[in-house]
Amino acid sequence: MQLKVDGQDSELLLTELEKRLSPDLTFEGGHILGSMCSSPDPIVPEVFARFIEKNIGDPGLFPATVALEHEVVETIGALIGGTAVSGSILTGGTEANILAMWAAKRRAGGGRRQVVLSESAHFSFDKAADLMDLELLRVPVDSSHRVKIDELRAAIGDKTMAVVGIAGSTGLGAVDPLEDLSSIALENDLYFHVDGAFGGFVLPFLREAGYRAPAFGFSLPGVSSITIDPHKMGRSAIPAGCLVFRDAQLAKFAETNVTYLAGGETNQRTITGTRSGASVAAVWAVLHHLGRSGLVANVKRAMDMTSWFADAVAGTPGLSLVVDPTLNVVGIRAEGCRMPEVATRLRRRGWAVSLFDGYVRIVIMPHVSREHLRRFLDALSGIVQG
Ligand code: PLP
Repeated sequence: MQLKVDGQDSELLLTELEKRLSPDLTFEGGHILGSMCSSPDPIVPEVFARFIEKNIGDPGLFPATVALEHEVVETIGALIGGTAVSGSILTGGTEANILAMWAAKRRAGGGRRQVVLSESAHFSFDKAADLMDLELLRVPVDSSHRVKIDELRAAIGDKTMAVVGIAGSTGLGAVDPLEDLSSIALENDLYFHVDGAFGGFVLPFLREAGYRAPAFGFSLPGVSSITIDPHKMGRSAIPAGCLVFRDAQLAKFAETNVTYLAGGETNQRTITGTRSGASVAAVWAVLHHLGRSGLVANVKRAMDMTSWFADAVAGTPGLSLVVDPTLNVVGIRAEGCRMPEVATRLRRRGWAVSLFDGYVRIVIMPHVSREHLRRFLDALSGIVQG
C-alpha cells in the first residue's frame, strides 16, 4: 500500500488497525494452546506505555534505567541461585542463547568451535552455529527425553568449547541432568550454558508449589550462564528475555565497546544495539507486583492444571502422553494417526497447537483454563476417533 501524502486521523487509524488485526488469535480467546508466551500481567501495559521512550542501548542517556536493569538481573539471578551475577534483559531466548554462545566462543579463544548439546535443543543454537561457524554435536535423548550423559561425555573432545543443558525443552519441557553436566563442564574446563528460557521461571518455584524439582541454577558450580525468559512464564510482555552470567568476568566475554553514543562510551552486552528500557521496567514491575508468592502461585496453577490434563489425556482412548510432564508442557500422541494431519485438522477447528515429530505439544500457560482444555480434548478425541 502506497503512503498517502496527507497524514490520517489517529482514531481512524486505530479503528482500522483493530479491524485489520482482528483475524489474529488472542490469548484470551482460549484457542492458543501451543505457545510459550501468554497475556502479560495487567500491570505491564501501563508500565510499558509510560516508559516507552527509554533506549537502554544508549545507557549514558538513561542511567536510571540501567540501574534498574542491574537490579532486575540481580533479582532474577537470586531466584536462580546466583550471588554475584551480571547480565541483560534481551529480546528473548534466541538472543540470549546466541549471546551465550558468543561469550563461550570468545572465552575459548581461537580454534575450539564445538558445542555439545541435546538433539532436542532449541533452533536458536542452529542460528548461533551458522552465525559464528560453530559445530553442534547433537547427542540423543533417553526415554525421558533428557540428554544421554554417557554419549554427551563421549562427544567431548579437543575442539569442544561449550556444553549446553536444557532446563525445559521446547517440545516436552524435559530437564537435562544438569548436575551431571555441571560436573562434566568443570572436569573439562568448558563453558556451560543452561537454556532455561522456558523452565527458568518454573523450576525455582516447583517445590513450593508441591512438585518435584530437578536440580537447576547457579547452585550447580559448573554453570556459566542461564537463559531465563520473563516473556514466557515470567508474566512479562514481549520482548523480554534475560541472560544471566554467573559473574562479571564471564559477562565480559559478551561485551562490545561502543564509543560514539550521545550518552558516552559504553560496553554493550547484547546482540541488539537500540533496545527497550520499557521492557526492563515491565520486568521489574511484574516481579515486584507478584512477589515470590505470586510466582509460586503462577507455577502452582499451571502445574495443577497440567497434572489434571495429563491424567485426562492418558485416560482418553487413542491418546497417550509422550512423557510424564516435569513442567507445564504436555506432548500428546494419537494412535494410528499422522500427527501433521491431526494438527491441521485441529487448526481448521480453530485450535493452535505446536507440531513436533510424532506428537503435538500443549503448553499450559497462564491464559489457559480447564474449560479450554476440556473443549480441546473433546475436539482432539473427535478427530482421532472419527
Ligand atoms: N529456548 C527454549 C528452550 C525455547 O523453548 C525457546 C522458545 O520457545 C527459545 C529458547 C527461544 O525463545 P524466543 O522465542 O523468546 O527467542
